[in-house]
Amino acid sequence: MLIVMSPEATADQVEDVLKLVRELGFKPHPMPGATRTAIGVTGNSGPIDPSHFEFMPGVGEAIRVSKPYKLVGRDLKHEDSVVKVGEFTIGGPIPAIIAGPCAVESFEQTMEIAETVAACGVNFFRGGAFKPRTSPYSFQGLGEEGLKILAEVRNKFGMRIVTEVLDQENVDLVEEYADVLQIGARNMQNFTLLRRVGQAKKPVLLKRGMSATLDELLLAAEYIMSEGNYDVILCERGVRTFADHTRNTLDLSIVPAVQGLSHLPIIVDPSHGTGRRDKVTPLARAAIAVGADGIMIEVHTHPERALSDGPQALLPDMFVKLVEEVRSIHKVLEKNEGAS
Ligand code: PEP
Ligand code: MN
Repeated sequence: MLIVMSPEATADQVEDVLKLVRELGFKPHPMPGATRTAIGVTGNSGPIDPSHFEFMPGVGEAIRVSKPYKLVGRDLKHEDSVVKVGEFTIGGPIPAIIAGPCAVESFEQTMEIAETVAACGVNFFRGGAFKPRTSPYSFQGLGEEGLKILAEVRNKFGMRIVTEVLDQENVDLVEEYADVLQIGARNMQNFTLLRRVGQAKKPVLLKRGMSATLDELLLAAEYIMSEGNYDVILCERGVRTFADHTRNTLDLSIVPAVQGLSHLPIIVDPSHGTGRRDKVTPLARAAIAVGADGIMIEVHTHPERALSDGPQALLPDMFVKLVEEVRSIHKVLEKNEGAS
């Protein structure tokens, strides 16, 4: 059920609707928009009778939602969502750049990369302290020590920190240090973890599962939002296909597809999407051109020594050039938008 308040509805009238939703045993999700507030209702196992709400003062209409998701959809919120991360934003007019190593390996390695990234005027730094690795014998991350290094990066360079939360047990810990909680591709359908980060007070970057459909991605986001955390950023990072010239097949067509259905921002990760350094820049350019709300890029000063994902890490000079290109492409798009 979706309750659309009329543009003239008062705050008290909105409050009365929220109260009734709770009294009926459901959960209200108010979403203020530019012209009116809409209220998503969840927690019902069957259809709700719209007449409960239709005649309440301030209610425009009460609509049954036919799509499997309610809170991520444009029916509830027409305008694009902009996620606030400290003083910065993801979504909105300027594409966000999130960059850094695959894994936090040491204080020196992280600081060196952070310096390169910060010098480009990038606002978001990434790096895994808890790494999901295919082999149990591969480097698993520095854990809390890694999180402390990331906090140092924030202190020194003012960049906001994006880092992965691998399981429910360490959400509290990661939340203490991170600005954005990343849910990795392998965990996109870890429903208990999704619910847990739905209760967190930090924005969540949700990566698409390796073989997830668009609906599955949106429903994973719905899990997070249904718990009350509306600050969700989606991320396309490539899917498994028969193509073997890249590590994954980057599905850029999901960007406009998501934008048609959902108000949530969507960024693109061409590093995992291709797995090859020489393909990262062209696909990052394409991601901006296709209208993504940002990109996530792995960068390393010594990729040959990287403890994970060295072959896909951009070298500092490649990254500097890419940031310039991203800004130029964005300018062209802005200009064309202004002209049309
Ligand atoms: C990562 O961002 O380092 C990562 C492990 O990504 P993914 O979950 O997309 O494989
Ligand atoms: Mn990686």
